[in-house]
Amino acid sequence: MHDDSDLLVIGGGSAGVATAIRAARHGAKVTLFEPHELGGTCVNRGCVPKKAMWLAAELAVAQRMAQEVGFDVQPGKLDWPAFVARREAYVARARGSYDKRLADLGIRLVRAHAHFVDARTLHADGADYRASHIVIATGSRPRPLALPGAELAIDSDGFFKLGAQPARVGIIGGGYIAVELAGVLGSFGSQVELITRKQGLLSHFDADLGRALGEMMRAEGIAHHEGCAVQGVRRDGDALRLDCSDHEPHGPYDVVISAIGRVPDIESLRLDAAGVSVNMYNEIVTDAFENTSVDGVYALGDVNGKLQLTPVAIAAGRQLAERLFNGQRDAHLDYANVPSVVFSHPPVGSVGLSEAAARVQYGDTVKVRSARFAPMLWSLAGREGKTFMKLVCAGDDERVVGVHGIGPGMDEILQGFAVAVRMGATYADFLKTVAIHPTSAEEFVTMG
Ligand code: NDP
Repeated sequence: MHDDSDLLVIGGGSAGVATAIRAARHGAKVTLFEPHELGGTCVNRGCVPKKAMWLAAELAVAQRMAQEVGFDVQPGKLDWPAFVARREAYVARARGSYDKRLADLGIRLVRAHAHFVDARTLHADGADYRASHIVIATGSRPRPLALPGAELAIDSDGFFKLGAQPARVGIIGGGYIAVELAGVLGSFGSQVELITRKQGLLSHFDADLGRALGEMMRAEGIAHHEGCAVQGVRRDGDALRLDCSDHEPHGPYDVVISAIGRVPDIESLRLDAAGVSVNMYNEIVTDAFENTSVDGVYALGDVNGKLQLTPVAIAAGRQLAERLFNGQRDAHLDYANVPSVVFSHPPVGSVGLSEAAARVQYGDTVKVRSARFAPMLWSLAGREGKTFMKLVCAGDDERVVGVHGIGPGMDEILQGFAVAVRMGATYADFLKTVAIHPTSAEEFVTMG
């Protein structure tokens, strides 16, 4: 029995590592269990390699624009295997820094699955570990496609294993991952079709963003079959087809990607042994302080299903460590006004309430301002698309409760506006801020 730790952390992804590091910095003795590479989904199979693909896709688009504005260049194809090697080398470096940080802080790393024996004890690699605090940070995995022929499709994990660029791709889903992978593959010249069960894209965002993204994707040649419930995946010669509710089978595709959400990774934890409760979605039930139903057991990141975003997992973990090991008894993450970017082409950025959510909360006091305009480079290149930006204001003082946009640079523009929203800036504050000209961002402070 190892009982020399103050904190046991199950999972070496964003949430687990952030909690362990902050706790160790406050003097806690920490043991972290992770059977695979450190870094979890974000570093190994998510944000980091995805952003690498997105950056390469941006260059593909830039090459075409360069030609359109008059450069004497022929847009070239990406050497997929060479770029993947470059990407994986970058990921390996990021992972290496995690190993080093844990070692520097004296965090014991056990490279094994851990499961509960009771509410204070874990078992891993043939030994028991006991501590007064246990954090569950095992993350999530792609929701399995429960359809005939599902084994013929890949998910986002499979996408990162592709050894070559697929020519024809069908993507099931219309959320973050679906539109991000559609944008990447479409920018590289693959023929991409999105298949969604509802109308529209990005159903968790302000409706205008999904609409605008849909228009822009169609303009780039990405097809979108809406309101189409996929009934099965099947082989047709060398290709794949999707049988759907709307009569015609879709395809042929070389690759079908399922991007229909992520589910908590809890199966191997034996939560029953500790009495930890889960809800109907298998998410571990937690309160605002990330306490589970069992005293001394906490759950953070994707596994509690609150907001499946890396910076949220990190922030929640740090707050918990401050509470447990630095005497900050009220420390907890405020989940309101979390900014988020979808790395579509072009990117979508959003913070605060959608117009619909604001109307529910603030009724008739809601005022919406929006702008559509052609970014200068698109105009110079003779492209017709327009970006879209929107402010949702509420109350007599017209506090800005939502900032939403889609267009080049939105991924970088949004962070500063998220600060303004968190600080309670009003529409008048936005207008008083002198614009930076000529930029896209200035639209947010000049919207009439
Ligand atoms: P999302 O929740 O964003 O989207 C899931 C999509 O799949 C929705 O369009 C949903 O449709 C659809 N769907 C769900 N179940 C089914 C089903 N049974 N059949 C057909 N369609 C279905 O999940 P993702 O998988 O795209 O991403 C998972 C999470 O990872 C995201 O929620 C996000 O939090 C995180 N992530 C964040 C990124 C970022 O920060 N840039 C990037 C990638 C992922 P409907 O709208 O009808 O529910």
